[in-house]
Amino acid sequence: RQAQYIALRDKPCVTKDGQPVDLMINAGLLIDLPHLEDTNCSGIGLFRTELQFMVGQNLPRTSEQLALYRAVLDAAGDKPVTFRTLDIGGDKAVPYMETVAEENPALGWRAIRLGLDRPGLLRGQVRALLRAGGGRALRIMFPMISEVAEFDQAKAIIERELTYLRQHGHALPERVDVGTMVEVPALLYQLDELLRKVDFVSVGSNDLFQFMFAVDRGNSKVSNRFDTLSAPILRALRDIVTKAKAAGKSASLCGEMASQPLGALVLIALGYRSLSLSATAHGPVKAMILDLDAKKAEATIMPLLDAPSGSISIRDKLRNFADAE
Ligand code: PEP
Ligand code: MG
Repeated sequence: RQAQYIALRDKPCVTKDGQPVDLMINAGLLIDLPHLEDTNCSGIGLFRTELQFMVGQNLPRTSEQLALYRAVLDAAGDKPVTFRTLDIGGDKAVPYMETVAEENPALGWRAIRLGLDRPGLLRGQVRALLRAGGGRALRIMFPMISEVAEFDQAKAIIERELTYLRQHGHALPERVDVGTMVEVPALLYQLDELLRKVDFVSVGSNDLFQFMFAVDRGNSKVSNRFDTLSAPILRALRDIVTKAKAAGKSASLCGEMASQPLGALVLIALGYRSLSLSATAHGPVKAMILDLDAKKAEATIMPLLDAPSGSISIRDKLRNFADAE
């Protein structure tokens, strides 16, 4: 099978009926960069910057952050890279930082919440990103945004750092696209306002699933109880991509769901044309895409979302569709 995926490497990632799909990879460390070449993917749809903070014994200096971001952009060349600002706290603990005992760490002081409360850390990171992006296009994405106001505050930090760098004569990025993860259900009900402000959104299906079903993503006793390929999740995913398209903004998905061929198939049927997945999943998902009739998938799958739930699960119906293809 590996050989089969290698053979697909240089084929454009287009469905059987001619719809291009941007297949990107998730990354976080230098060791991930060779996958840009060996998958021949469209870019890095999620760069998890927290990994650099989690592997070391000390807080990485701004210069070390800058060096990593530069190396990533150099390796990516013309391909886009979406850097996600620090998503630490909760279960992503860093040994050298102040921690507070939390009863519900996933709902706690983490990600952008920590970033806005301790802006020094976020400012330093944003400055490193903007400097690394000097003279090129840069994409920055915030994790765990729950309210539009948080996005405004986080974006203001970027503006402030841009002003600082301009005043100090640094080369600025050619453009900075600023977006957010959609992984907190409250954001689903703020999409109209949010989409006016962001340049792009990317769905974090791992957390969105966890929060929508109130099911700990790391606890297999409960995490297998609900299905990602079920009506509530699929309706939410449909609404995000439909509203984003109407607003002229791009919507991608960078959670585990995109790494499973059946999950990716459904996402394409719902209208997603950009997916970011683990590098190991790139081959199998690309093989599925080259073999997929996207129009037919859409016509078959969309009506299932609002159909009354019968005795056959949506997942089984989807599997039947995929098997028949
Ligand atoms: C997600 O929540 O789906 C996601 C991509 O972010 P992470 O897995 O890093 O929380
Ligand atoms: Mg997440």
